[in-house]
Amino acid sequence: MRCLFCKQDSSGSKSVEHVVPESLWNTQHILPRGVVCDSCNNYFARKVEKPFLDSQAISRLRFTQVIPNKRGRVPPSEAILLPGFPVVAYREASTPYTLSLQTSPEALKHIANNKKGTLLLPINAKPPASRTVSRFLAKMAIEAMALRLLEQPDGISYLIDEPQLDPLRNFARRGQPQEWPHHARRIYDADRELLDLDGHSYQTVHEFDYLVTEKQEWYFIFALFGLELAINIGGPEVDGYMEWLRENKERSPLYSGKNAP
Ligand SMILES: [Zn+2]
Repeated sequence: MRCLFCKQDSSGSKSVEHVVPESLWNTQHILPRGVVCDSCNNYFARKVEKPFLDSQAISRLRFTQVIPNKRGRVPPSEAILLPGFPVVAYREASTPYTLSLQTSPEALKHIANNKKGTLLLPINAKPPASRTVSRFLAKMAIEAMALRLLEQPDGISYLIDEPQLDPLRNFARRGQPQEWPHHARRIYDADRELLDLDGHSYQTVHEFDYLVTEKQEWYFIFALFGLELAINIGGPEVDGYMEWLRENKERSPLYSGKNAP
């Protein structure tokens, strides 16, 4: 058995690989052990997923939407208790409507004296660097292909030996080339609620698919709480995607063509 990224023998590898990180509520899209070797798995966790997940914008998204990591912890958020006391706010997935605050004795005194307080949670947050997002997408794009080909007899070997995937593989695993742009836009509000057939409301956390354009360019499209991200699997440019969007009335490939509602 060989690794999808470094192509080395991975027969002794022990960890399964989450295509979308566990810390984004993925319990579904998982590659069995050995498809990605332990060393690549570990590298991705530290150098590709962590910078994305720990960025201010994603960690705030996880706070707002109460998404715990695999140890059950939701990232805390900085906040301000008026008139200006700094506070750290904590939430727990088991009690999503409760906020716990860590603050100074002065702030506690202020609350005690006034019997109430106003807490301001910051809205704007710095997004992860473009390159961080692109590498995160590159890793998922290749792994999501493997997920689809798992059941095919030579599916994974084909992916490993496909030279057209080597540039994207190198970008995910080694950070070369330096730049590989992606396309980002919002396709629905992060708080959008949908109803299932039984009338229960739910939110879409993440969804992904591929788009093959008329020019035979392959794109991986991933949406996280309505933020749609697209990367070209064949090379570092997104012009073909923008052209496809113009020709398709800016609809998302996740909701048009074969995915039309
Ligand atoms: Zn490897």
